[in-house]
Amino acid sequence: MNKEIRRHQVVIVGGGAAGLELATYLGKKLGRKGLADITLLDATHTHIWKPLLHEVAAGTLDETEQVEYLAQAYRSGFLFRLGKMDGLDRENKQISVAPTLSEKTGEELIPRRDFQYDTLVMAVGSVSNTFNIKGVDKNCRFLDSVAEAFDFQQQLVETYIKSHVSRKTKLSIGIVGAGATGVELAAQLHEVTNTLAMYGLDAVKDVQITIIEAAPRLLPALPDRLAMATQRQLINLGIDLRLDCRVVEVTKEAIKTHDGELIPAELKVWAAGIKAPDWFKDLGGLEINNINQLVVQQNLKTSDENIFAIGDCAACPWPGHDANVPPRAQAAHQQATTLAKSIVNRVKGKEELVNYVYRDYGSLVSLGKYSTVGNLMGNLMGSVSVGGFIARVVYLALYKMHQIAIHGYYRTAMLTLSNLFRDSVYKRIKLH
Ligand SMILES: Cc1cc2nc3c(=O)[nH]c(=O)nc-3n(C[C@H](O)[C@H](O)[C@H](O)COP(=O)(O)OP(=O)(O)OC[C@H]3O[C@@H](n4cnc5c(N)ncnc54)[C@H](O)[C@@H]3O)c2cc1C
Repeated sequence: MNKEIRRHQVVIVGGGAAGLELATYLGKKLGRKGLADITLLDATHTHIWKPLLHEVAAGTLDETEQVEYLAQAYRSGFLFRLGKMDGLDRENKQISVAPTLSEKTGEELIPRRDFQYDTLVMAVGSVSNTFNIKGVDKNCRFLDSVAEAFDFQQQLVETYIKSHVSRKTKLSIGIVGAGATGVELAAQLHEVTNTLAMYGLDAVKDVQITIIEAAPRLLPALPDRLAMATQRQLINLGIDLRLDCRVVEVTKEAIKTHDGELIPAELKVWAAGIKAPDWFKDLGGLEINNINQLVVQQNLKTSDENIFAIGDCAACPWPGHDANVPPRAQAAHQQATTLAKSIVNRVKGKEELVNYVYRDYGSLVSLGKYSTVGNLMGNLMGSVSVGGFIARVVYLALYKMHQIAIHGYYRTAMLTLSNLFRDSVYKRIKLH
């Protein structure tokens, strides 16, 4: 009798900085060799590395940086399935996936489905935390997904055009949150505005960018000296910085602060902290923390033997620190690499799970063409402040590491070269 052998089913939910790297590695290591079925589920068709989203929003990065999940799956030996997970049945070891609807017509394309797993990895990332502040959900834009970043970019262009034609409106942009996302977005928007003015949309020279931050200083991940240098640079660019300023409400026209001031803002972006998605509150009773992240042990295992979590949606202890591992791309990359080893062991029948230890290589913030600043951490040298060319190269290296993990060295080199040629021919600013 020809009895088909059932392979170990690894299901990874979320193909972001962490999930796509993990699926690619496991596809090559296990999927291609027929040792396990590796399935990646994502709510969208394509992947863009999330730290690039502020460039998408400003229009300085276009679709060419997107990775098609289906093509990546074909090349790397895993299966890709399109859909949004919305439920978990731990007893029967299956996840449920909501029906997929056509974006244009709303017609059901794929009906509700379940997927069986032996090993489940949750890697769905995070969403903006609005702290239930009145009007934020309704009136602010978020940079949580590629679709939102493209939406913002379109609204930006339309607002620029309206400003230019009417010559009446002074365009105001309010960014809430002076972490890396808010600061990088402000610098990119400033650069885009100048370039558009150069192209002839000169009315937009009147743009006013305001960053509002509840803490007394910007960029909490960077040392004081670098934060101050960045602050000076932003002020020199004419960006209005409101520190120690708490937002209490956002209306259609303005951002209201704790002292009653109304800061006018036609475009409003919320970049003031993250949380894991709210549907985690009811995820088969798995343990979560106060921002919905799945609590994991040092080996990235949740309170269920067969379920792991990596990236922003995981609350992983950071030994020696009074905090969890921060929600950063470098942590997502490292966790994917560590968990890959544990899953290979599991599939091969070994019990051994590898412990994850976060290695903080420092933080870098890019102010577009103006500068890049940050600190690098090394075992021997401690924390070293960097700026200028070196900082720019290291900043780019983080993305290159992600590209290498999914494309390999050769294709990453080719992509880098083709982008260099492209950029030397014309400046990338998306105007539609
Ligand atoms: C604008 C911006 C700039 C940033 N800059 C930096 C930086 O300079 N340096 C740094 O270290 N970090 C930076 N970060 C943080 C960094 O991007 C995240 O820490 C990292 O992307 C987390 O990776 P992840 O895999 O956990 O989640 P993500 O990369 O967000 O991927 C999550 C994936 O899950 C999918 N998904 C979500 N819900 C579902 C569902 N229900 N079903 C199926 N799929 C789902 C999404 O479509 C997505 O593909 C930045 C973030 C932003 C937003």
